[in-house]
Amino acid sequence: MAPGTIPPMDPGGGEDGGAPHGALSERAELHALRAVLSSTGAYVFTKDRDCRYTYVNRLVAELFGRSPAEVVGCTDEDFFDLEASGGIRRNDMEVMAGGVTVTAEERNVVRETGDELYYLSVKTPLRDTDGEVIGLCGISTDITRQKELEHAFIEQRALLGTVIENVDASIYVKHRDGRYRYVNALCARILGRSPDEIIGRRDDELHDPETAARITEMDRRTFERQQKQSGEEQLVLPDGTTGHFWSTKMPLGHVGRPDELIGFSSDVTEMHELRKDLERQAFTDGLTGVATRRYLMLQAEHELEQSRRHGWPLALIALDIDHFKKVNDAHRHAGGDAVLVAVAQHCAGLVRDADLVGRIGGEEFAVMLVNTGLDGAMRLAERLRREVAALQVTLPTSGTPVRCTISLGVSAFDPAHDGGAHGRHVTIDELLDRADTALYVAKAEGRNRVRAAPRA
Ligand code: GH3
Ligand code: MG
Ligand code: MG
Repeated sequence: MAPGTIPPMDPGGGEDGGAPHGALSERAELHALRAVLSSTGAYVFTKDRDCRYTYVNRLVAELFGRSPAEVVGCTDEDFFDLEASGGIRRNDMEVMAGGVTVTAEERNVVRETGDELYYLSVKTPLRDTDGEVIGLCGISTDITRQKELEHAFIEQRALLGTVIENVDASIYVKHRDGRYRYVNALCARILGRSPDEIIGRRDDELHDPETAARITEMDRRTFERQQKQSGEEQLVLPDGTTGHFWSTKMPLGHVGRPDELIGFSSDVTEMHELRKDLERQAFTDGLTGVATRRYLMLQAEHELEQSRRHGWPLALIALDIDHFKKVNDAHRHAGGDAVLVAVAQHCAGLVRDADLVGRIGGEEFAVMLVNTGLDGAMRLAERLRREVAALQVTLPTSGTPVRCTISLGVSAFDPAHDGGAHGRHVTIDELLDRADTALYVAKAEGRNRVRAAPRA
């Protein structure tokens, strides 16, 4: 029998030699060993020094589609595409030349099918009685499925990494204690620090206290409600400018007790500026810089509500430039515009911060006076009349001085007189209507004067 070769099984039992009572005879032991080897889930084989198979178990034979006897004497060359495979020959040589056990992953490409198989192989030298290496014994486990999963995992990780590092959003993971666990490249860039400087730190160590408080407020809600939270966040950026971000934060980890959150923040600064611009345009009159009619009415509605709730009075003044057509005729439209701007700005400069001047028509304005009754509003209206009459507007093109007067009508809502919360529901439109009526009385009575609307 060749050294390193397991003798064929003797089905006849044969002589047991002098085995001690209760122990298996050498032959029976061999028989048992064979049974184990053929039923094991591992590939077991022996090879001689020329890498020829001297024994293969059932699994190896099945892999090669031959009987065990047919495989004996063959080499891996007969079954595998060794050019395409990796490691198999090299490992065999290392075991036999170095007389060492080699544990390694091997990639084998089956010659007939082209299938790519992965094995974890342990190869040990077989020696003769003199200790000379005469071959090797190998046990290989099929790890193809694990390898496939590993490859899929590596691919998915790489894909995820590519997405996370290139997506136009700041992505971060924070622990419940507020410390950053992960930040993507963009997040680090926005914070003006390297990821190492951010990870392990809290927002109050990275931002001014106000910014940190705003950011952590959404974090707190995310953990408390254990639900996705979204909203706009404002950051002071490293260059000192303010950035606006639309953030979505989601709890991560155990349901019921999430330990972490993942956040996505997209820079919406440009959109924010655009919206502010649009708001400014919608709420600010382009020519005079005072409020638009729309904004004035919105604010007045809100203030009327406050008046009802708190029992404060609210007054409105309607004012219109006298004989403005003549101004236009004498100084052209541009001259008229300059007068409009001057009158509007002068009036705006005379009211308190809480009050509001709005342009409600061509050369007609309204002034909303919070917490002011009819008497107070009449006094302010008179002051406006007097100051505008004294105003001398110098036209920018010609340097010509122009003067004009205004007529004013005043109305007021006073909860003390008009019924308050349980009284009649006066609307802003009605208040403005009444001021307008008073204005036309002022016009009719000769202009450059103030008239009060009768109480409702
Ligand atoms: P009254 O004293 O009765 O108010 O006389 P008035 O001439 O001011 O009469 P009215 O209010 O009817 O005329 C307003 C004029 O204002 C008519 C219009 O051509 C002019 N106007 C309206 N908007 C503008 C503007 O934006 N710029 C200029 N320059 N003129 C305007
Ligand atoms: Mg007019
Ligand atoms: Mg008018």
